[in-house]
Amino acid sequence: MCADLVSHPGFFRANRIAKLSVSEIIKISTRARELRAEGKPVIILGAGEPDFDTPEHVKQAGIAAINAGQTKYTPLDGTPELKQAICDKLSRENELDYQPANISVSAGAKQVLFNAFMATINPGDEVIIPTPFWTTYADIVEVCGGEPVLVKCPGEKGFRLQADQLEAAITPKTKWLMLNSPSNPSGAAYSAEELKPLLAVLARNPHVWLVCDDIYEHITYDDFEFVTPAQLAPELRDRILVVNGVSKSHAMTGWRIGYGAGPVELIKAMAVMQSQSTSCASSVSQAAAIEALNGDNSFLEERRLSFQERRDLVVAGLNEIDGVTCRVPEGAFYTFASCEGLIGKTTPSGKTIESDSDFCRYILEESHVAIVPGSAFGLSPYFRISYAAAKSELVEAISRIQKAASALT
Ligand code: PMP
Repeated sequence: MCADLVSHPGFFRANRIAKLSVSEIIKISTRARELRAEGKPVIILGAGEPDFDTPEHVKQAGIAAINAGQTKYTPLDGTPELKQAICDKLSRENELDYQPANISVSAGAKQVLFNAFMATINPGDEVIIPTPFWTTYADIVEVCGGEPVLVKCPGEKGFRLQADQLEAAITPKTKWLMLNSPSNPSGAAYSAEELKPLLAVLARNPHVWLVCDDIYEHITYDDFEFVTPAQLAPELRDRILVVNGVSKSHAMTGWRIGYGAGPVELIKAMAVMQSQSTSCASSVSQAAAIEALNGDNSFLEERRLSFQERRDLVVAGLNEIDGVTCRVPEGAFYTFASCEGLIGKTTPSGKTIESDSDFCRYILEESHVAIVPGSAFGLSPYFRISYAAAKSELVEAISRIQKAASALT
């Protein structure tokens, strides 16, 4: 009989995960749930997923696939029908001409990235990651034995990488530049004019390849026009991996479908990785994703406007707080506000706020609002709010944060 299922002195942990730890976001969510279990009225604004439901026609396509017996393994990196639907989407929406052989379908954009880095990164290889960044990027590079090269892009520069920074970060060991627009966590997005100088640097450095994570493509605001780098620089397309998926646009985070589009050799290498991990993405989810890409997408506009209204509410509320400044994000469903003006202040119980983590802990313990410190995304002193939550919750959360911040002396 097993004596102890909780811990075992003989457990062996691989070196490749030595630098990884449970993310700050998970720690905060765990604490938030504990407080909730104690009966506290906790509002959690840490989630990275839309609060909408998957559209009905997409759900029905999944159900129809089950009823039609589409419940078996599919070809390794995607069904021909889904690959074609992805090619059509990229042509229709992004003016990109890809063939099914250029497409890789995985269990979420996260697995696309995992496959790409696992298939291309050797120990010591470098990946340039503008900061703040979605922590998964650096963690996957670490798992592969690579070196994440973090380049700080503060709010004053719109959280966007500048061409001179990119130039300075490139070394002979650089393999990839990782771009994410609109960004998690900052909500910042690159216009065509902002991308062009970066692409010019890449053109001068033919050993550097580009991953662009476009997962928030359909969530942009005001008159911002989304453009993906491959669209602007066709001459670089043989070293660009476009990453996208249906998780955020179609509120399908649980269906786990993401895709990559890139040069055939890379796509084949990614398929090798997938063949020895998940084999293929869920057959049912792939069928639903075809409907998501080909079907009626008129709901996107309504959802976009709903997010925009919530963005405006949160940004305005945060900017009313003395010591907090929040730039207006162009996209995604996050605000990334600076709390620099609150650092050094004292809480009513006599503790000093020394960092963004201290601030977020104070807000969680005192106001019962779960928000995530910038340190979790590599840039301080900031905090991220996910506004993919009900408007009433957002109003209440902002009012609690305002009250707690004004109690600091
Ligand atoms: N990229 C970014 C920037 C994200 O924020 C997320 C989800 N948090 C993903 C990729 C992963 O999405 P998926 O559900 O398709 O794996």
